[in-house]
Amino acid sequence: MNGDGTGRQEALVTTTLDEIARQVTTCRDCDLCRTRNKAVPGEGPAAPKIVFIGEAPGWNENQQGRPFVGAAGQFLQELLASIGLKRGEVYITNVVKCQPPGNRDPLPDEIAACAKYLDAQLALLKPRMVVTLGRYSMARWFPNARISQIHGQARKLDGVVYFPMYHPAAALHQPSLRAIVEADMLKIPRLLAEIEQVAEAEPTAPPPKQLALF
Ligand code: URA
Ligand code: SF4
Repeated sequence: MNGDGTGRQEALVTTTLDEIARQVTTCRDCDLCRTRNKAVPGEGPAAPKIVFIGEAPGWNENQQGRPFVGAAGQFLQELLASIGLKRGEVYITNVVKCQPPGNRDPLPDEIAACAKYLDAQLALLKPRMVVTLGRYSMARWFPNARISQIHGQARKLDGVVYFPMYHPAAALHQPSLRAIVEADMLKIPRLLAEIEQVAEAEPTAPPPKQLALF
């Protein structure tokens, strides 16, 4: 499942999410291991309806070893609440599992080195819906897309519905994005309902017909 065509390392052979988390916490496969405090593997239920994928841990996440626990996390929690979800009901992780120094953007070789963990997580989680938060997680599936053009539009790839959103931290820094992020979030329940309807109608085979929404 190497979607973005960057020079990835070999796939990880893992059995459980806990095992991936254990490997992440001791990983030294890119330079971010030198400056991180705690690596942040991700957290959530083993069979989530949605996986949310951010960019990289920030200051708070690096202290606690948990994703989205700072201001962006608080906003994400509010956004989830707006559609009746608690953070414990979804899986939350990042493209890169260790904090880049000074919160700089992750570098291509760091993203490539870390991709095996997200690959392995998604292979185990098997979500029907993935919400990408920000440009870096969007780029993994839509490498040439502009977030300003494709945010809030669901796209189906290999049986998974991908839904790109702006990063909640971007919305906190740019007030004009806040209403956009809030409106995009409100589209999710209808998408989920349609995904579930299709899954119920076709429990064993992928749906042959095109869905109305994507
Ligand atoms: N921003 C992210 O992209 N991820 C986090 O976990 C926290 C803030
Ligand atoms: Fe390993 Fe990923 Fe952390 Fe780099 S960012 S050290 S690849 S877990």
